Amino acid sequence: MPDEDRTTPATTPGTATAPLETAQAQLSSAVEILGYDEGLHQMLATPRREMNVAVPLRRDDGSIELFRGYRVQHNISRGPGKGGLRYSAGVDVDEVRALAMWMTWKCAVVDVPYGGAKGGVTIDPANYSTTELERVTRRYTSEIMPIIGPERDIMAPDIGTNEQTMAWVMDTYSVNMGYTVTAVTTGKPLTVGGSLGRATATSRGVVHAAAAALAEAGVQLDEVSAAVQGFGKVGSHAARFLHDAGTKVVAVSDEHGGIQSSDGLDVPALLEHVARGGRVPEFEGGSPVSNSELLALDVDVLVPAAVEGVLDAEAAARVKARWVVEGANGPTTTEGDRILAERGIVVVPDILANAGGVIVSYFEWVQANQAYWWTEQEIAERLEQRMAASFAAVSTVSRRESITLRDAALIIGVRRVAEAHQIRGLYP
Ligand code: GLU
Repeated sequence: MPDEDRTTPATTPGTATAPLETAQAQLSSAVEILGYDEGLHQMLATPRREMNVAVPLRRDDGSIELFRGYRVQHNISRGPGKGGLRYSAGVDVDEVRALAMWMTWKCAVVDVPYGGAKGGVTIDPANYSTTELERVTRRYTSEIMPIIGPERDIMAPDIGTNEQTMAWVMDTYSVNMGYTVTAVTTGKPLTVGGSLGRATATSRGVVHAAAAALAEAGVQLDEVSAAVQGFGKVGSHAARFLHDAGTKVVAVSDEHGGIQSSDGLDVPALLEHVARGGRVPEFEGGSPVSNSELLALDVDVLVPAAVEGVLDAEAAARVKARWVVEGANGPTTTEGDRILAERGIVVVPDILANAGGVIVSYFEWVQANQAYWWTEQEIAERLEQRMAASFAAVSTVSRRESITLRDAALIIGVRRVAEAHQIRGLYP
């Protein structure tokens, strides 16, 4: 897999707070505000269905290596499971459970008719050839075939996977079914039913969310500075769109480290450097900054767009930004969140800020089901409308209830899922 196709986590996940603990604490907070009873809380907290599979790989040298593979469908009450597939050596079932739960609330808060799911395979794609990654992907897909499908559970890229991975999943599923089923994955290459605008949708959504949050304080993107942690599928394009909107992007990083320049970085040149296979800290247009230092830079907007748990209590106490816009899933721990709130820092939560990806995934699935493709402009407009409407709804609840944007987004998402449970009733 070429380097530029991988999302490169900027740091290893925080070990102090596991993502599942954060996700469960967030749900408990929403359930308390909503006044739900313990039975409903348990239903919302518990994954609906999980598969845990062995994924053996015949390596190019003939030896065999074994990985674990997971697919967790947290909730399917509002529609099929939906969520990415993560390739990461350290991924475990609890991390996948947390990510699947966040997908449930994310899909509900932006009102796309899906539940939430996530997959993971314990492989570091950087250490394997393209043919090896193809075999791992096909075997994993084949193992989880019984629970996926365009009406059951629809996969998309996440950390360590890309358009090519989605093409292999789609092909394996289709060959086994005996006909082509493009809607079983999203984030596919355009030539096999992908959607215009999907590859950059998460980043566009992050920038729409940032613009909306700033606008509430009467501030525009061209008046602020920003630091972006992570230079993969989300962070790199977010830095570019911020730069295009006139924001001074003063620091970015990848998992090898970061660079900063108080005059603003030449983001297009940096993108070219990375596209040529360069690492962010090797770019000659700034001075070095560590991933930890980047979080504490004196900027207006901080965009954590790498991995979970980086804004823990210690890091949150050092943040100088006025806005934190979460491009990653779960970058802030519960303690970190409390400290940011106490310090008056506005956090646009992941389930809202990074929902642009799943919104355009939904558009891709709709287009595949209709076998009719929209223009890039139609997609960009519809994405912007949905992000704006979702942000406005969350912001209204936040102000009305005097709660953070995170709690507001959670109660909107959790309530929609709970209502689906209640109106459908319990069988038998
Ligand atoms: N992996 C992305 C996310 O965390 C995209 C999910 C999707 O499009 O299904 O939101």
